[in-house]
Amino acid sequence: MAGPMTDSHRRFLQTMMCNGIVDGAKAKTLHRLCCEIHKVSYAPDKLDEFVNIINTHLQPMFMQIRKGMSEEDGQQYYALVNLADTEITRMASDYSDNELELFRKAMDLIVESENGMACSTDILNLADKLQSKKMKKKEVEGVLQRLVVDKWLCEKNGEYTLSTRCIMEMEQYIRNMYQDLVKLCNICHNIAIQSQMCENPSCGIKMHVPCVARYFRGRTEPHCPACNEFWPHEIPGKLTVLLLRNL
Ligand SMILES: [Zn+2]
Ligand SMILES: [Zn+2]
Repeated sequence: MAGPMTDSHRRFLQTMMCNGIVDGAKAKTLHRLCCEIHKVSYAPDKLDEFVNIINTHLQPMFMQIRKGMSEEDGQQYYALVNLADTEITRMASDYSDNELELFRKAMDLIVESENGMACSTDILNLADKLQSKKMKKKEVEGVLQRLVVDKWLCEKNGEYTLSTRCIMEMEQYIRNMYQDLVKLCNICHNIAIQSQMCENPSCGIKMHVPCVARYFRGRTEPHCPACNEFWPHEIPGKLTVLLLRNL
């Protein structure tokens, strides 16, 4: 049975409500600060227990603070997610119908791609394919910028990916919408969008890039962990340090 919710838990939850998502390091600092301010006992290794107490009290409201991993660098994150609403409509107060349609279509491009990315040209080309109300390319650019600021999408060198927040919040939606397409990472068993895929057609497993780095570290010849075929993708090295920090 989880303990009672104290002011330290309430303060932690309030910060999560403001931020939506914080990285693992920030969550640790926040945990310490909340305990110090409200003079309750603090143990650095008790963050997950602390969060579990909050989650017990959030359960009737179908909300949860969930731990997840960035597909980009393997960093750990904590996000406040809504479990009741499995539709994109939760964004409806911030985005108009055609903006949401654009987001859905961009999401299609990203999830249906092999590596979990969509280039800006392809997304801009959606402008005149919208059914609700067509947009000019300039308007699409504006919406994309807002989606990045609001932490639904990430952009790097003109390639768009689903943000960590988006995957954590929309996991159920993604699973419902793209049932056959969505695969779990062979290593961490979370859904894998931005990932590498085994090129053996009878295998086709996916691994997150940071999971690839972790799995192949120290192995001379990379082979698929499922079918043992040669793994033909670039093995990221620089991520390893970041990743190990979070193990
Ligand atoms: Zn993984
Ligand atoms: Zn394979």
